[in-house]
Amino acid sequence: MQWSEEAQKEIEKVPSFVRSMARKAVEKAVKKSGREEVTLDDVHQGREKYISWAEKKDGEEKKQRIAIVRCEIVSEVCPGIACFKAFNQRRLAFAQYDNNAEIIGFFTCGGCSGRRVSRLVDKLIKYNLTAVHLSSCMMLDDDYPRCPHLEEIKKSITDKGIKVVEGTHH
Ligand code: SF4
Repeated sequence: MQWSEEAQKEIEKVPSFVRSMARKAVEKAVKKSGREEVTLDDVHQGREKYISWAEKKDGEEKKQRIAIVRCEIVSEVCPGIACFKAFNQRRLAFAQYDNNAEIIGFFTCGGCSGRRVSRLVDKLIKYNLTAVHLSSCMMLDDDYPRCPHLEEIKKSITDKGIKVVEGTHH
């Protein structure tokens, strides 16, 4: 199968991990129409049909899925507004995320010494969890003291291969 120069240049713009699949799909469509050369139009049509689907799928796979763990004690006086505000505005500890990122879990540690965390992280791993933020209320020595179980809680998450980010809105 021949490729016009323009078609060749266009297909090079497709992300490398799906390029070979896209190339085959375009060639198959051209062959089906009884032609021997792939044109720029063919690539554009292929982009609509197959390539945009694959690119979208790639975006889904790269999507950041975040959980926030917070202090059970502090949750008595805090509904989580500052955590959500920082996330919604992609500020402070959430500045690293693009607009596709999602919060998929928001829960308290379950009380000292934070034994609930491991179980709930296990549940979220099935939903492609990528990172857990430890809320600022756990980190700061403020109205409430810094969590004395921080290191154990962190380890219980990182041992599962999940990234831990310290903080949410500070
Ligand atoms: S383990 Fe830490 S975060 Fe959980 S209730 Fe106790 S002090 Fe708060």
